[in-house]
Amino acid sequence: MNIPLLDLKAQLDPIHAEIMAAIAATVDSTCYIMGPQIELFEKNVADYCGTKTAIGVSSGTDALLASLMALGVGRDDLVLTTPYSFFATMGSILRLGALPVFADIDPVTYNIDPRQVAALLADTALAAKIKAILPVHLFGQCAAMGPLLQMAEEHHIPVVEDAAQAIGAVYPRMVDGAVQWQRAGSMGVCGCFSFFPSKNLGGMGDGGMVVSNNDKLAGDLKLIRVHGDISKYQHAVVGGNFRLDAMQAAILNVKLPYLPAWHAARRQNATLYNALFKESGLVAAGFVTPPAAIYQEMATAAKGVDYHIYNQYVLRVKNRDGLRDFLQQQSIGVAVYYPIPLHKQKCIDGLPASRLAFPEAEKAAAETIALPIYPELTSDMQEYVVDRISAFYNK
Ligand SMILES: *Cc1c(COP(=O)(O)O)cnc(C)c1O
Repeated sequence: MNIPLLDLKAQLDPIHAEIMAAIAATVDSTCYIMGPQIELFEKNVADYCGTKTAIGVSSGTDALLASLMALGVGRDDLVLTTPYSFFATMGSILRLGALPVFADIDPVTYNIDPRQVAALLADTALAAKIKAILPVHLFGQCAAMGPLLQMAEEHHIPVVEDAAQAIGAVYPRMVDGAVQWQRAGSMGVCGCFSFFPSKNLGGMGDGGMVVSNNDKLAGDLKLIRVHGDISKYQHAVVGGNFRLDAMQAAILNVKLPYLPAWHAARRQNATLYNALFKESGLVAAGFVTPPAAIYQEMATAAKGVDYHIYNQYVLRVKNRDGLRDFLQQQSIGVAVYYPIPLHKQKCIDGLPASRLAFPEAEKAAAETIALPIYPELTSDMQEYVVDRISAFYNK
């Protein structure tokens, strides 16, 4: 059996006619830059995330870059983030001349560990130089936003959420003594999304979005998106061309209503994998550790069920590289997110962060592997994947 890591064709087939109609209508409209499809998609995403505003941008990377620009992050400023993420998280900081300060990850969730953040912020001289905190909701599960936001507030530091992998995921915030399930991106000063084709809501090219409840920041972002143009070639600030394409917005307007069902299918696949790995004995034997969705039960009980959206289903395993090679030989698509933690990247050789050790990020980079989890994956395929993994460890 040939099982790809992701099957975009399987997702496209049932909505093909609808997508083609949206593309044709956009072509015929001759409105390719900004316009009604962008405005509609921004409204749809803001409603979905529960935020006042959404600002369409050119990619998830540009969502991060524009957000940090809007917050005034610049040369020699510090931004506190995780060493275990896609490169864009750190790249957006470095491109502004700022420096990343890393807090190691929690080995259970792979997200930034609030205890490590607390230890860094206890150094008041360091805390004073930190212009933003940039947590990543890795693999589709929100970082520990409760403690992170509380610390950020105490130190008056804005939190920008890198929610590129987590559109729609929810997190239990305590508000006035009661739990509120809040959407990824809506908790910090702003949240950044990507519509890269492999994300849960993927376009047919690049695209991104910033959501925010902060009017000042949203206004600044709208300017930065169009070269700081306040009206007809008058430039108030230096921005860039960070616009989302109308064609992508038209396609994404078609796809957004399907997102809850796609999330549910991914979650169902994760539940089945968890059960199959348990039955296989691989978990008890210590060969594989399935991902922990730490608030899933609480979310299900509260009907806040989009707790974990499983952009990736990531196992921690023994002999990771051996398993990866074996599964690839068996025509099973797997991937390693991410083999090199950010502090070990060549491009920051010599910077202070590169001289520090982040043992949990380094372990995760060496021990984890992502399996196919896309919504259209069948239970037969999942059984086959687990069967092949069992064959690898029992040979
Ligand atoms: C995908 C991703 C990005 C970048 O998004 P692009 O749209 O590819 O620019 C940023 N951060 C994380 C965590 C991502 O997964």
